[in-house]
Amino acid sequence: MATLTFWGAAGTVTGSKYLIENHHNRVLVDCGLFQGPRALRERNWAAAPFPAASVDAVLLTHAHIDHTGYLPRFVKQGFRGPVYCSRGTADLLRILLPDSARLQEEEADYRNRHKVTRHTPALPLYTEEDAEAALQLLQVVPNDGQAIRIVKGISAEFRIAGHILGSSQVLALIETEQGIRRVLFSGDLGKYDQPIIRDPVAPPSCDYLVVESTYGDRTHDPEEPKVALERVIKNAALHNSEILIPAFAVGRAQELLYLIRELEDEKRVPVLPVILDSPMASAATKVYANRREEHDEEYVTASAGNANPMRTHSMLATTTKEESKRLNKERGARVIISASGMMSGGRVLHHALRVLPDKNATIVFVGYQAAGTLGRRVADGEKEVKVLGQWVPVRCQSVKIGGFSAHADWQEVIRWLQDLPAAPLRVFVTHGEVGSATAMAQHIRERFSWPVEVPEHGQQFELT
Ligand SMILES: [Zn+2]
Repeated sequence: MATLTFWGAAGTVTGSKYLIENHHNRVLVDCGLFQGPRALRERNWAAAPFPAASVDAVLLTHAHIDHTGYLPRFVKQGFRGPVYCSRGTADLLRILLPDSARLQEEEADYRNRHKVTRHTPALPLYTEEDAEAALQLLQVVPNDGQAIRIVKGISAEFRIAGHILGSSQVLALIETEQGIRRVLFSGDLGKYDQPIIRDPVAPPSCDYLVVESTYGDRTHDPEEPKVALERVIKNAALHNSEILIPAFAVGRAQELLYLIRELEDEKRVPVLPVILDSPMASAATKVYANRREEHDEEYVTASAGNANPMRTHSMLATTTKEESKRLNKERGARVIISASGMMSGGRVLHHALRVLPDKNATIVFVGYQAAGTLGRRVADGEKEVKVLGQWVPVRCQSVKIGGFSAHADWQEVIRWLQDLPAAPLRVFVTHGEVGSATAMAQHIRERFSWPVEVPEHGQQFELT
């Protein structure tokens, strides 16, 4: 008998963890951190519902922390098996996991200094050393669909999912007394026609399907983000004013650079200084440039005529804090791309102190802004906000560009599902808030009449 149990991303978008068991082995698909509301984050601290040491291997769909950020903790708790992932995922994890550990350590530090802790001293969920230990377990596998033996009785196939660099759909092939059962995990599924990386490839046939539903109840803004970006840059050039774009360091920052470069090459915007002020985004940009096997045709064509399509014509990537601070003294039309994407920390805050009160400047939101974040407050039009402990008036213009997304919307998920060679026995909808997961389930029922469920946290299903 084999089973599949949902230990994360069930009725929520974080903490992805799917446990596969057959008569002699346990394999975990994704090992994500819960993020967001406190009730969810507390799950990161609870004892794992299955002993870490009893798991034989982990398979990762992609590098985002909500799919991988629990790994260092899992290793700390005794997991010693291999962690299989694509080359792009491994490259990005070497940037993301140590960074996640630093954030955990900083948070513990903050709690101790401000004495806001129920445990003394407050300890980090894991440290940079734990993250290093997790990185030692990575085993790179090809993501071209070839079968890889994971443990006795379980093999897997990885295929491009088009969400971020390295992101993969994972097909697990599980031996049971009744024969092989095929379970396909969509992972996070990309939007079609995203710049730089390839589109999601067609899903292979499967008995069971686990599909994401981040945008299960929404469709993307139909305006091309490139067109919106063109408008904002032209306007800044005209008024000799500054643009600040808070952006996620992995994925979004690279897309922005690529699109600005295209706009410049096509002479649709004047060349302005573009400053990438995020060491993590710079490191991720190098990884994106190096992983040629994942580039889409447009990127390959662009890179034939120009060594780096993610480098604009007047670009500066700052590395030190001093360089970053020097930007404060300069004026005039320019574009600053900085992290974090929701202004919840990082260098973007120093720029916010200067940009928010400046009525000529523009702040551009290119990603989701979660409730409670500084980004959300500014995007919602609050007139005064607290940045790094001081109250700052918001006088700059605020623009939202809705067309950027690393996720397929529900129509694109349906488009991807249409390519399944045959109907699955059962579909599980995960990785969405309850409302969007339920809506996605309904879209699938309406379009295909397949049996669909929205599993609950901890729910187990037999793979018969
Ligand atoms: Zn993701």
